[in-house]
Amino acid sequence: KQRRGNCFSVYHGKMRAKLERRRIIEDDLFSGQFSSKGFHYVVQPQIDGRDGTLIGIEVLARWNHPELGQISPFEFIQVAEDSGAIELLTRHLFELILDTADRWIGRYGGIPKIAVNVTPNLLENKMFYSNLIRKLKKYAISPDWFEIEITEESELLFSERVLNNLWKCQKAGIAISIDDFGTGFSGLSYLTNFPVNKIKIDRVFINLIGKSAKSEAILKSIITLADGLGLDVIAEGVETEEQLRFLTAAGCPIVQGYYFDKPLTAEQFENKYLAGHRT
Ligand code: C2E
Ligand code: CA
Ligand code: CA
Ligand code: CA
Repeated sequence: KQRRGNCFSVYHGKMRAKLERRRIIEDDLFSGQFSSKGFHYVVQPQIDGRDGTLIGIEVLARWNHPELGQISPFEFIQVAEDSGAIELLTRHLFELILDTADRWIGRYGGIPKIAVNVTPNLLENKMFYSNLIRKLKKYAISPDWFEIEITEESELLFSERVLNNLWKCQKAGIAISIDDFGTGFSGLSYLTNFPVNKIKIDRVFINLIGKSAKSEAILKSIITLADGLGLDVIAEGVETEEQLRFLTAAGCPIVQGYYFDKPLTAEQFENKYLAGHRT
C-alpha cells in the first residue's frame, strides 16, 4: 500500500513539474520578454549540391532559457500553439530575421532566399498577408526573397481564409513550400488546387536511402511528381554523400542538412557565406 502511495506522489510530482515548466514557458511567451530571455534563431543553408551554390536559408527558432536551459523547438512551438502565443512568437521572429536581412543587404548588396516556418493556424488570421507585406515593406525586402514553409499537418490548410492568405502571398511573389512532404495528413489532391511552389521532402525518406528500396521508390516518385507539376523540390536532413548522390541522380540536387551545414547563428552564417562575397 505504501509503495503504491509513493508511486502516486512521484507521478504527481512529475506532473506538477511539467505543468510548472509549461507555465513558465507560457508566461515568458505572453509577456513578450522572450527575446531578453534567450529566444533567438539560427539559420540552415539550402544548397545546390552540384556546385555548392547557396540557394537560401531556413530560419529555425531556438530558446536558451535562463531557468530551463535549452528548450527544444518542438516543445516551445507546441506550447505557443496551444496557448495562442504562436502569433506573437512568429511576428517577433519575422522582425528579427528581417532586421538582419536588412543589415546584410546594406553590407553585401543581397541576401539569400529566406524560408520561415509558419504553422497553418496562423494562416487562419485574415490579416496574415497584410501584416507580412507591411513588415517586408518596412525593411524594404522584396517578397521574392521570402518563403513560407507550411506543414501539411491538418485539414486547416483547406479553409477559405487559409487559402486566401496563401493565394495573396503567392501572387505577391512569396514562395509557398510544403514542409515534411510525404508524412502529413492530407492527400495529394491539394497540390493541384492549392497555391504551392515547392515541396520539401521529409527527412524520414532521406534517412532510408540505401536502406529501403521501397522508400527509395517513394522518393523517386515524389521527385517525378514535383517535376510533373512544375514545382521546386528540396530534400531535408541530408547527412551523407551517398544520400546527396542518390538525390542528385534522382533529380533533386537542392538539399539541406548536416552534410553541408548544421543550423548556424546569423553571425556564423554571415562569416561563412556572405563576408568575402561583397559586391
Ligand atoms: P522542420 O521545419 O522540419 O525543421 C528541420 C529540423 O531538422 C530542424 O530541427 C533542423 O535542425 C533539423 N535538421 C536539419 N538538418 C538535419 C540533418 O541533417 N539531420 C537531422 N537529423 N536533423 C536535421 P529543429 O531546429 O529542432 O526544429 C524542429 C521543428 O520545430 C522544425 O521542424 C519546425 O517544425 C519547428 N520549428 C522550428 N522553428 C520554428 C519556427 O520558427 N516556427 C515554427 N512554427 N516552427 C518551428
Ligand atoms: Ca521547416
Ligand atoms: Ca521539415
Ligand atoms: Ca518537421
